[in-house]
Amino acid sequence: MDDFETLGLSDELLRAVKSEGYTTPTPVQALCIPPLLDGKDVLGVAQTGTGKTAAFALPVLQVMSRSRPQGKRYIRALVLSPTRELAAQIDERFSAYSTHLDLRHKVIFGGVKQNPQVRALEKGLDILVATPGRLLDLIGQGYIDLGRVDFFVLDEADQMLDMGFIRDIRKVLKLLPKRRQNLLFSATMPKSIAELAESFLRNAIMVDVSPEEVTVERIEQKIMFVRKADKRRILVKIIKGEKVEKGIVFTRTKHGANRLVKQLDQSGVNAAAIHGNKSQGARTKALASFKAGHTRILVATDIASRGIDVDGITHVFNYDLPNEPESYVHRIGRTARAGKSGIAYGFCDESESGYLVGIQNLIGFEIDVDDEHEWHFHGAVPKPGQKPGKIKTNNPKKKPNRNQQNRSTKPKSKRRNNHNSRQPSSGRSRSGSGGGRPGNGEGRSRNNRGRSRNQRNNRD
Ligand code: AMP
Repeated sequence: MDDFETLGLSDELLRAVKSEGYTTPTPVQALCIPPLLDGKDVLGVAQTGTGKTAAFALPVLQVMSRSRPQGKRYIRALVLSPTRELAAQIDERFSAYSTHLDLRHKVIFGGVKQNPQVRALEKGLDILVATPGRLLDLIGQGYIDLGRVDFFVLDEADQMLDMGFIRDIRKVLKLLPKRRQNLLFSATMPKSIAELAESFLRNAIMVDVSPEEVTVERIEQKIMFVRKADKRRILVKIIKGEKVEKGIVFTRTKHGANRLVKQLDQSGVNAAAIHGNKSQGARTKALASFKAGHTRILVATDIASRGIDVDGITHVFNYDLPNEPESYVHRIGRTARAGKSGIAYGFCDESESGYLVGIQNLIGFEIDVDDEHEWHFHGAVPKPGQKPGKIKTNNPKKKPNRNQQNRSTKPKSKRRNNHNSRQPSSGRSRSGSGGGRPGNGEGRSRNNRGRSRNQRNNRD
Protein backbone atom coordinates (compact mmCIF):
# COMPACT_ATOMS: atom_id res chain seq x y z
CA MET A 1 0.00 0.00 0.00
CA ASP A 2 1.22 3.50 -0.83
CA ASP A 3 1.96 5.96 1.88
CA PHE A 4 0.58 9.51 1.77
CA GLU A 5 3.87 10.94 0.40
CA THR A 6 3.71 8.82 -2.74
CA LEU A 7 0.17 10.02 -3.47
CA GLY A 8 1.54 13.44 -4.38
CA LEU A 9 0.16 15.44 -1.46
CA SER A 10 1.74 18.74 -0.48
CA ASP A 11 3.79 19.18 2.70
CA GLU A 12 1.02 21.17 4.37
CA LEU A 13 -1.45 18.37 3.83
CA LEU A 14 1.02 15.68 4.83
CA ARG A 15 1.54 17.50 8.12
CA ALA A 16 -2.20 17.76 8.69
CA VAL A 17 -2.75 14.10 7.91
CA LYS A 18 0.07 13.16 10.26
CA SER A 19 -1.39 15.15 13.13
CA GLU A 20 -4.67 13.29 12.56
CA GLY A 21 -2.72 10.11 13.23
CA TYR A 22 -3.19 8.67 9.74
CA THR A 23 -0.19 6.62 8.66
CA THR A 24 -1.48 4.71 5.64
CA PRO A 25 -4.04 5.83 3.07
CA THR A 26 -7.21 3.74 3.03
CA PRO A 27 -7.97 2.00 -0.30
CA VAL A 28 -10.42 4.67 -1.39
CA GLN A 29 -7.83 7.37 -0.66
CA ALA A 30 -5.04 5.53 -2.48
CA LEU A 31 -7.27 5.14 -5.51
CA CYS A 32 -8.98 8.55 -5.58
CA ILE A 33 -6.30 11.04 -4.60
CA PRO A 34 -3.88 10.66 -7.58
CA PRO A 35 -6.53 10.99 -10.34
CA LEU A 36 -8.22 13.88 -8.53
CA LEU A 37 -4.88 15.69 -8.20
CA ASP A 38 -4.48 15.05 -11.90
CA GLY A 39 -7.69 16.91 -12.70
CA LYS A 40 -9.78 13.85 -13.52
CA ASP A 41 -13.41 13.18 -12.60
CA VAL A 42 -13.97 10.28 -10.22
CA LEU A 43 -16.94 8.01 -9.59
CA GLY A 44 -16.46 6.39 -6.18
CA VAL A 45 -18.43 3.49 -4.80
CA ALA A 46 -17.70 3.78 -1.10
CA GLN A 47 -19.62 4.26 2.08
CA THR A 48 -18.97 6.31 5.19
CA GLY A 49 -16.24 4.71 7.25
CA THR A 50 -13.92 3.98 4.34
CA GLY A 51 -12.09 7.29 4.65
CA LYS A 52 -13.85 8.78 1.64
CA THR A 53 -14.03 12.29 3.09
CA ALA A 54 -10.25 12.64 3.07
CA ALA A 55 -10.23 11.00 -0.37
CA PHE A 56 -11.91 14.07 -1.80
CA ALA A 57 -11.12 16.77 0.79
CA LEU A 58 -7.33 16.40 0.50
CA PRO A 59 -7.15 16.79 -3.29
CA VAL A 60 -9.75 19.58 -3.26
CA LEU A 61 -7.65 21.47 -0.73
CA GLN A 62 -4.46 20.85 -2.66
CA VAL A 63 -5.91 21.98 -5.98
CA MET A 64 -7.48 25.06 -4.35
CA SER A 65 -4.26 26.04 -2.60
CA ARG A 66 -2.28 26.03 -5.87
CA SER A 67 -3.81 29.36 -6.77
CA ARG A 68 -5.35 32.08 -4.67
CA PRO A 69 -7.40 34.46 -6.81
CA GLN A 70 -6.98 38.17 -6.11
CA GLY A 71 -9.68 40.11 -4.34
CA LYS A 72 -12.61 38.78 -2.36
CA ARG A 73 -12.83 35.01 -2.01
CA TYR A 74 -15.50 33.23 -3.99
CA ILE A 75 -16.84 29.68 -3.93
CA ARG A 76 -14.44 27.50 -5.90
CA ALA A 77 -15.48 24.13 -4.49
CA LEU A 78 -18.96 22.91 -3.65
CA VAL A 79 -19.65 19.74 -1.66
CA LEU A 80 -23.27 18.57 -1.56
CA SER A 81 -24.32 16.21 1.19
CA PRO A 82 -27.76 14.72 1.93
CA THR A 83 -27.94 15.20 5.71
CA ARG A 84 -26.98 17.88 8.16
CA GLU A 85 -24.89 15.53 10.26
CA LEU A 86 -22.82 14.39 7.33
CA ALA A 87 -22.42 17.97 6.06
CA ALA A 88 -21.22 19.08 9.49
CA GLN A 89 -18.77 16.19 9.66
CA ILE A 90 -17.36 16.93 6.22
CA ASP A 91 -16.84 20.55 7.22
CA GLU A 92 -15.14 19.46 10.42
CA ARG A 93 -12.77 17.31 8.34
CA PHE A 94 -12.01 20.29 6.08
CA SER A 95 -11.02 22.20 9.25
CA ALA A 96 -8.67 19.43 10.31
CA TYR A 97 -7.00 18.99 6.93
CA SER A 98 -6.70 22.69 6.08
CA THR A 99 -4.97 23.83 9.29
CA HIS A 100 -1.81 24.85 7.42
CA LEU A 101 -3.55 26.36 4.39
CA ASP A 102 -5.04 29.75 3.71
CA LEU A 103 -8.45 28.48 2.62
CA ARG A 104 -11.83 29.35 4.04
CA HIS A 105 -14.69 26.88 4.20
CA LYS A 106 -18.17 26.86 5.67
CA VAL A 107 -21.08 24.46 6.06
CA ILE A 108 -24.68 25.50 5.50
CA PHE A 109 -27.78 23.42 6.23
CA GLY A 110 -31.38 23.93 7.18
CA GLY A 111 -33.01 23.69 10.58
CA VAL A 112 -30.88 26.48 12.04
CA LYS A 113 -30.90 30.28 11.61
CA GLN A 114 -29.49 31.44 8.33
CA ASN A 115 -27.90 34.70 9.55
CA PRO A 116 -24.49 33.32 10.63
CA GLN A 117 -24.37 31.38 7.35
CA VAL A 118 -25.20 34.50 5.36
CA ARG A 119 -22.53 36.50 7.20
CA ALA A 120 -19.89 33.87 6.36
CA LEU A 121 -20.98 33.87 2.74
CA GLU A 122 -20.78 37.64 2.56
CA LYS A 123 -17.23 37.60 3.95
CA GLY A 124 -16.19 35.26 1.13
CA LEU A 125 -15.40 31.54 1.03
CA ASP A 126 -13.30 29.11 -0.97
CA ILE A 127 -15.13 25.89 -0.14
CA LEU A 128 -18.83 25.48 0.60
CA VAL A 129 -20.32 22.32 2.11
CA ALA A 130 -24.10 22.28 1.89
CA THR A 131 -27.32 20.31 2.01
CA PRO A 132 -29.45 20.91 -1.08
CA GLY A 133 -32.45 22.62 0.53
CA ARG A 134 -30.63 25.44 2.31
CA LEU A 135 -28.25 25.83 -0.62
CA LEU A 136 -31.06 26.49 -3.07
CA ASP A 137 -32.81 28.69 -0.55
CA LEU A 138 -29.79 30.95 -0.15
CA ILE A 139 -29.13 30.91 -3.89
CA GLY A 140 -32.74 32.08 -4.35
CA GLN A 141 -32.12 34.92 -1.91
CA GLY A 142 -29.08 35.98 -3.88
CA TYR A 143 -26.42 35.11 -1.29
CA ILE A 144 -24.69 32.39 -3.27
CA ASP A 145 -23.20 32.40 -6.74
CA LEU A 146 -22.02 29.06 -8.08
CA GLY A 147 -20.82 30.51 -11.37
CA ARG A 148 -17.11 30.09 -10.60
CA VAL A 149 -17.05 26.62 -9.02
CA ASP A 150 -14.05 24.57 -10.21
CA PHE A 151 -14.72 21.48 -8.12
CA PHE A 152 -18.07 19.81 -7.50
CA VAL A 153 -18.48 16.90 -5.07
CA LEU A 154 -21.75 14.99 -4.75
CA ASP A 155 -21.51 12.84 -1.65
CA GLU A 156 -23.78 9.90 -0.74
CA ALA A 157 -25.54 10.18 -4.08
CA ASP A 158 -27.76 7.14 -3.48
CA GLN A 159 -28.99 8.65 -0.25
CA MET A 160 -29.67 11.93 -2.07
CA LEU A 161 -31.88 10.12 -4.55
CA ASP A 162 -33.61 8.11 -1.84
CA MET A 163 -34.45 11.33 -0.06
CA GLY A 164 -35.98 12.80 -3.20
CA PHE A 165 -33.25 15.35 -3.94
CA ILE A 166 -32.82 14.54 -7.61
CA ARG A 167 -34.56 17.70 -8.84
CA ASP A 168 -32.54 19.84 -6.45
CA ILE A 169 -29.34 18.24 -7.72
CA ARG A 170 -30.33 18.95 -11.31
CA LYS A 171 -31.07 22.58 -10.41
CA VAL A 172 -27.65 22.92 -8.80
CA LEU A 173 -25.92 21.30 -11.79
CA LYS A 174 -27.49 23.90 -14.10
CA LEU A 175 -25.95 26.70 -12.03
CA LEU A 176 -22.40 25.33 -12.22
CA PRO A 177 -19.98 26.37 -14.93
CA LYS A 178 -19.45 23.84 -17.72
CA ARG A 179 -15.73 23.49 -17.16
CA ARG A 180 -15.16 21.96 -13.75
CA GLN A 181 -13.92 18.83 -12.04
CA ASN A 182 -16.50 16.43 -10.59
CA LEU A 183 -16.61 13.70 -8.03
CA LEU A 184 -19.56 11.52 -7.17
CA PHE A 185 -19.57 9.18 -4.19
CA SER A 186 -22.26 6.61 -3.56
CA ALA A 187 -22.46 3.62 -1.23
CA THR A 188 -24.32 1.62 -3.86
CA MET A 189 -24.47 1.84 -7.63
CA PRO A 190 -28.04 1.22 -8.80
CA LYS A 191 -28.99 2.14 -12.33
CA SER A 192 -30.39 5.51 -11.25
CA ILE A 193 -27.00 6.58 -9.86
CA ALA A 194 -25.15 5.27 -12.88
CA GLU A 195 -27.43 7.41 -15.05
CA LEU A 196 -26.94 10.46 -12.88
CA ALA A 197 -23.16 9.93 -12.98
CA GLU A 198 -23.29 9.56 -16.74
CA SER A 199 -25.12 12.88 -17.01
CA PHE A 200 -22.40 15.05 -15.51
CA LEU A 201 -19.12 13.16 -15.03
CA ARG A 202 -16.60 13.26 -17.87
CA ASN A 203 -14.33 10.28 -18.56
CA ALA A 204 -14.48 9.46 -14.90
CA ILE A 205 -12.15 7.04 -13.17
CA MET A 206 -14.26 4.49 -11.33
CA VAL A 207 -13.10 3.55 -7.85
CA ASP A 208 -14.99 0.76 -6.17
CA VAL A 209 -14.57 -0.16 -2.53
CA SER A 210 -18.17 -1.26 -2.11
CA PRO A 211 -19.29 -2.14 1.39
CA GLU A 212 -19.88 -5.86 1.05
CA GLU A 213 -16.18 -6.35 0.70
CA VAL A 214 -14.95 -3.73 3.08
CA THR A 215 -16.82 -4.04 6.31
CA VAL A 216 -19.10 -7.01 6.60
CA GLU A 217 -16.51 -9.68 7.16
CA ARG A 218 -14.68 -7.79 9.88
CA ILE A 219 -17.70 -7.41 12.10
CA GLU A 220 -18.85 -10.13 14.43
CA GLN A 221 -22.55 -10.64 13.84
CA LYS A 222 -25.26 -12.52 15.70
CA ILE A 223 -28.90 -13.13 15.04
CA MET A 224 -31.34 -13.79 17.85
CA PHE A 225 -34.81 -15.13 17.07
CA VAL A 226 -37.30 -13.56 19.46
CA ARG A 227 -40.87 -12.41 19.85
CA LYS A 228 -41.41 -8.74 19.20
CA ALA A 229 -42.56 -8.19 22.78
CA ASP A 230 -39.31 -9.63 24.18
CA LYS A 231 -36.92 -7.44 22.23
CA ARG A 232 -36.75 -4.76 24.89
CA ARG A 233 -35.85 -7.25 27.64
CA ILE A 234 -33.14 -8.89 25.63
CA LEU A 235 -31.67 -5.54 24.65
CA VAL A 236 -31.45 -4.40 28.26
CA LYS A 237 -29.95 -7.73 29.28
CA ILE A 238 -27.17 -7.47 26.68
CA ILE A 239 -26.48 -3.80 27.39
CA LYS A 240 -26.13 -4.53 31.08
CA GLY A 241 -24.50 -7.93 30.77
CA GLU A 242 -21.88 -6.80 28.27
CA LYS A 243 -21.50 -3.42 29.97
CA VAL A 244 -22.04 -1.60 26.68
CA GLU A 245 -20.60 1.91 26.90
CA LYS A 246 -21.14 3.00 23.31
CA GLY A 247 -23.88 1.34 21.30
CA ILE A 248 -26.32 2.27 18.55
CA VAL A 249 -29.78 0.74 18.43
CA PHE A 250 -31.63 0.92 15.12
CA THR A 251 -35.39 1.09 15.00
CA ARG A 252 -37.52 1.30 11.88
CA THR A 253 -39.64 4.27 12.94
CA LYS A 254 -39.16 7.57 14.74
CA HIS A 255 -42.01 6.70 17.07
CA GLY A 256 -40.38 3.37 17.88
CA ALA A 257 -37.11 5.17 18.65
CA ASN A 258 -38.80 7.56 21.11
CA ARG A 259 -40.67 4.75 22.82
CA LEU A 260 -37.55 2.67 23.21
CA VAL A 261 -35.59 5.54 24.75
CA LYS A 262 -38.30 5.88 27.40
CA GLN A 263 -38.27 2.15 28.06
CA LEU A 264 -34.48 2.06 28.32
CA ASP A 265 -34.56 4.98 30.75
CA GLN A 266 -37.06 3.07 32.88
CA SER A 267 -34.65 0.16 32.95
CA GLY A 268 -31.83 2.40 34.07
CA VAL A 269 -30.05 2.65 30.72
CA ASN A 270 -29.08 6.15 29.68
CA ALA A 271 -30.20 6.61 26.04
CA ALA A 272 -31.08 9.34 23.54
CA ALA A 273 -32.93 9.26 20.24
CA ILE A 274 -31.83 10.78 16.97
CA HIS A 275 -34.26 10.99 14.07
CA GLY A 276 -35.77 13.36 11.58
CA ASN A 277 -38.52 14.70 13.85
CA LYS A 278 -36.01 16.06 16.33
CA SER A 279 -34.89 19.65 15.96
CA GLN A 280 -31.36 20.19 14.71
CA GLY A 281 -30.40 21.45 18.17
CA ALA A 282 -31.68 18.28 19.83
CA ARG A 283 -29.89 16.08 17.30
CA THR A 284 -26.58 17.90 17.70
CA LYS A 285 -26.89 17.73 21.48
CA ALA A 286 -27.72 14.02 21.47
CA LEU A 287 -24.81 13.24 19.16
CA ALA A 288 -22.35 15.37 21.15
CA SER A 289 -23.37 13.69 24.39
CA PHE A 290 -23.00 10.27 22.77
CA LYS A 291 -19.59 11.14 21.29
CA ALA A 292 -18.40 12.42 24.65
CA GLY A 293 -19.53 9.19 26.32
CA HIS A 294 -22.22 10.80 28.51
CA THR A 295 -25.00 8.90 26.72
CA ARG A 296 -24.33 5.18 26.42
CA ILE A 297 -26.93 4.32 23.85
CA LEU A 298 -28.07 6.18 20.77
CA VAL A 299 -31.39 5.03 19.34
CA ALA A 300 -31.55 5.96 15.69
CA THR A 301 -33.53 5.58 12.51
CA ASP A 302 -31.60 4.84 9.33
CA ILE A 303 -31.74 8.25 7.78
CA ALA A 304 -30.70 10.18 10.85
CA SER A 305 -27.78 7.85 11.40
CA ARG A 306 -26.35 8.28 7.92
CA GLY A 307 -22.89 9.67 8.08
CA ILE A 308 -22.64 9.51 11.85
CA ASP A 309 -19.00 8.95 12.47
CA VAL A 310 -18.36 8.19 16.10
CA ASP A 311 -15.22 6.44 17.21
CA GLY A 312 -15.33 3.44 19.47
CA ILE A 313 -18.87 2.14 18.90
CA THR A 314 -18.63 -1.42 20.20
CA HIS A 315 -22.21 -2.59 19.67
CA VAL A 316 -24.80 -2.16 16.96
CA PHE A 317 -28.27 -3.51 17.64
CA ASN A 318 -30.69 -4.12 14.81
CA TYR A 319 -33.64 -3.86 17.14
CA ASP A 320 -35.85 -3.95 14.07
CA LEU A 321 -34.29 -5.68 11.11
CA PRO A 322 -34.15 -3.26 8.18
CA ASN A 323 -36.48 -3.95 5.27
CA GLU A 324 -33.71 -2.93 2.86
CA PRO A 325 -30.76 -5.36 2.98
CA GLU A 326 -28.29 -2.57 2.12
CA SER A 327 -29.32 -0.71 5.27
CA TYR A 328 -28.08 -3.66 7.30
CA VAL A 329 -24.60 -3.19 5.87
CA HIS A 330 -24.68 0.55 6.57
CA ARG A 331 -25.89 -0.01 10.09
CA ILE A 332 -23.35 -2.58 11.14
CA GLY A 333 -20.62 -0.46 9.54
CA ARG A 334 -21.05 1.98 12.45
CA THR A 335 -18.94 -0.39 14.50
CA ALA A 336 -15.57 -1.98 13.83
CA ARG A 337 -14.30 1.23 12.26
CA ALA A 338 -10.69 2.10 11.63
CA GLY A 339 -9.55 -1.45 12.30
CA LYS A 340 -11.28 -1.81 15.69
CA SER A 341 -13.54 -4.74 16.46
CA GLY A 342 -17.24 -4.64 17.14
CA ILE A 343 -20.32 -6.77 17.36
CA ALA A 344 -23.67 -6.40 15.62
CA TYR A 345 -26.76 -8.06 17.06
CA GLY A 346 -29.91 -8.54 15.03
CA PHE A 347 -33.24 -9.26 16.72
CA CYS A 348 -35.45 -11.08 14.28
CA ASP A 349 -39.12 -11.53 15.13
CA GLU A 350 -41.66 -13.62 13.25
CA SER A 351 -42.57 -10.78 10.89
CA GLU A 352 -38.94 -10.14 9.96
CA SER A 353 -37.59 -13.54 8.94
CA GLY A 354 -37.99 -12.59 5.27
CA TYR A 355 -35.85 -9.51 5.86
CA LEU A 356 -33.18 -11.78 7.30
CA VAL A 357 -33.28 -13.93 4.17
CA GLY A 358 -32.77 -10.79 2.05
CA ILE A 359 -29.86 -9.63 4.21
CA GLN A 360 -28.14 -13.00 4.03
CA ASN A 361 -28.61 -13.11 0.28
CA LEU A 362 -26.90 -9.74 0.00
CA ILE A 363 -23.96 -10.39 2.29
CA GLY A 364 -23.52 -13.89 0.93
CA PHE A 365 -23.40 -15.90 4.13
CA GLU A 366 -25.59 -16.99 7.00
CA ILE A 367 -25.22 -14.96 10.16
CA ASP A 368 -24.39 -16.96 13.28
CA VAL A 369 -27.42 -17.63 15.45
CA ASP A 370 -27.39 -17.15 19.20
CA ASP A 371 -30.17 -19.33 20.61
CA GLU A 372 -28.72 -19.78 24.06
CA HIS A 373 -31.02 -17.36 25.78
CA GLU A 374 -34.36 -17.59 27.51
CA TRP A 375 -36.26 -15.66 24.81
CA HIS A 376 -35.33 -17.84 21.85
CA PHE A 377 -38.39 -18.18 19.62
CA HIS A 378 -38.29 -20.83 16.94
CA GLY A 379 -41.29 -19.33 15.14
CA ALA A 380 -39.11 -16.44 13.93
CA VAL A 381 -36.58 -18.68 12.15
CA PRO A 382 -36.89 -18.43 8.34
CA LYS A 383 -38.77 -21.38 6.86
CA PRO A 384 -37.06 -23.55 4.26
CA GLY A 385 -37.37 -21.81 0.93
CA GLN A 386 -38.60 -18.61 2.46
CA LYS A 387 -38.40 -15.69 0.07
CA PRO A 388 -36.77 -12.38 0.95
CA GLY A 389 -39.12 -9.61 1.99
CA LYS A 390 -41.94 -8.74 4.29
CA ILE A 391 -43.79 -11.45 6.18
CA LYS A 392 -47.42 -10.85 6.97
CA THR A 393 -48.44 -12.02 10.43
CA ASN A 394 -51.75 -12.36 12.25
CA ASN A 395 -53.59 -13.09 9.08
CA PRO A 396 -55.36 -16.39 9.63
CA LYS A 397 -57.07 -16.25 6.23
CA LYS A 398 -53.80 -16.43 4.33
CA LYS A 399 -52.69 -20.00 3.77
CA PRO A 400 -49.02 -20.83 3.32
CA ASN A 401 -47.93 -21.12 -0.27
CA ARG A 402 -47.87 -24.84 -1.03
CA ASN A 403 -45.12 -24.42 -3.57
CA GLN A 404 -42.79 -23.13 -0.93
CA GLN A 405 -43.47 -25.65 1.76
CA ASN A 406 -41.06 -28.39 0.84
CA ARG A 407 -38.37 -26.48 -0.91
CA SER A 408 -35.18 -26.35 1.04
CA THR A 409 -33.27 -23.48 -0.42
CA LYS A 410 -31.12 -22.00 2.24
CA PRO A 411 -29.91 -18.47 1.66
CA LYS A 412 -26.93 -18.33 -0.65
CA SER A 413 -23.78 -18.99 1.29
CA LYS A 414 -21.19 -18.42 -1.38
CA ARG A 415 -18.76 -16.75 0.96
CA ARG A 416 -19.56 -18.74 4.02
CA ASN A 417 -16.42 -20.82 4.04
CA ASN A 418 -13.93 -18.14 3.41
CA HIS A 419 -15.39 -15.04 4.88
CA ASN A 420 -13.25 -15.09 7.96
CA SER A 421 -10.10 -15.33 5.97
CA ARG A 422 -10.92 -12.51 3.57
CA GLN A 423 -8.78 -9.44 3.57
CA PRO A 424 -10.48 -6.05 3.42
CA SER A 425 -10.80 -5.05 -0.18
CA SER A 426 -7.88 -3.35 -1.78
CA GLY A 427 -10.42 -1.65 -4.00
CA ARG A 428 -10.77 -1.63 -7.73
CA SER A 429 -10.27 1.21 -10.07
CA ARG A 430 -10.92 1.54 -13.74
CA SER A 431 -11.46 4.17 -16.31
CA GLY A 432 -14.92 4.70 -17.71
CA SER A 433 -17.78 7.05 -18.03
CA GLY A 434 -19.46 5.94 -14.86
CA GLY A 435 -21.80 3.38 -16.31
CA GLY A 436 -22.19 1.28 -13.16
CA ARG A 437 -21.31 -2.31 -12.49
CA PRO A 438 -22.79 -4.97 -14.67
CA GLY A 439 -25.37 -7.09 -12.99
CA ASN A 440 -25.75 -4.67 -10.17
CA GLY A 441 -28.20 -2.29 -11.72
CA GLU A 442 -31.64 -3.79 -11.89
CA GLY A 443 -31.83 -5.55 -8.56
CA ARG A 444 -30.44 -2.65 -6.63
CA SER A 445 -32.54 -0.09 -8.41
CA ARG A 446 -35.68 -2.03 -7.65
CA ASN A 447 -34.69 -2.14 -4.01
CA ASN A 448 -34.01 1.51 -4.15
CA ARG A 449 -37.46 2.40 -5.30
CA GLY A 450 -38.94 0.54 -2.37
CA ARG A 451 -36.63 2.33 -0.06
CA SER A 452 -37.50 5.73 -1.51
CA ARG A 453 -41.06 5.55 -0.33
CA ASN A 454 -40.17 4.38 3.15
CA GLN A 455 -37.33 6.71 3.65
CA ARG A 456 -39.10 9.74 2.31
CA ASN A 457 -41.60 9.33 5.12
CA ASN A 458 -38.67 9.46 7.47
CA ARG A 459 -37.00 12.29 5.65
CA ASP A 460 -34.90 14.60 7.79
P1 AMP B 1 -15.04 8.71 6.46
O1 AMP B 1 -15.29 7.47 5.68
O2 AMP B 1 -14.50 9.80 5.63
O3 AMP B 1 -16.26 9.10 7.25
O4 AMP B 1 -13.88 8.40 7.53
C1 AMP B 1 -14.06 7.48 8.59
C2 AMP B 1 -13.06 7.69 9.71
O5 AMP B 1 -11.77 7.24 9.32
C3 AMP B 1 -12.88 9.14 10.16
O6 AMP B 1 -12.91 9.16 11.57
C4 AMP B 1 -11.52 9.54 9.66
O7 AMP B 1 -10.92 10.48 10.52
C5 AMP B 1 -10.77 8.21 9.68
N1 AMP B 1 -9.73 8.12 8.64
C6 AMP B 1 -9.78 8.60 7.39
N2 AMP B 1 -8.66 8.28 6.72
C7 AMP B 1 -7.87 7.58 7.57
C8 AMP B 1 -6.58 6.98 7.45
N3 AMP B 1 -5.89 7.02 6.31
N4 AMP B 1 -6.09 6.33 8.53
C9 AMP B 1 -6.82 6.27 9.68
N5 AMP B 1 -8.02 6.82 9.85
C10 AMP B 1 -8.57 7.46 8.81
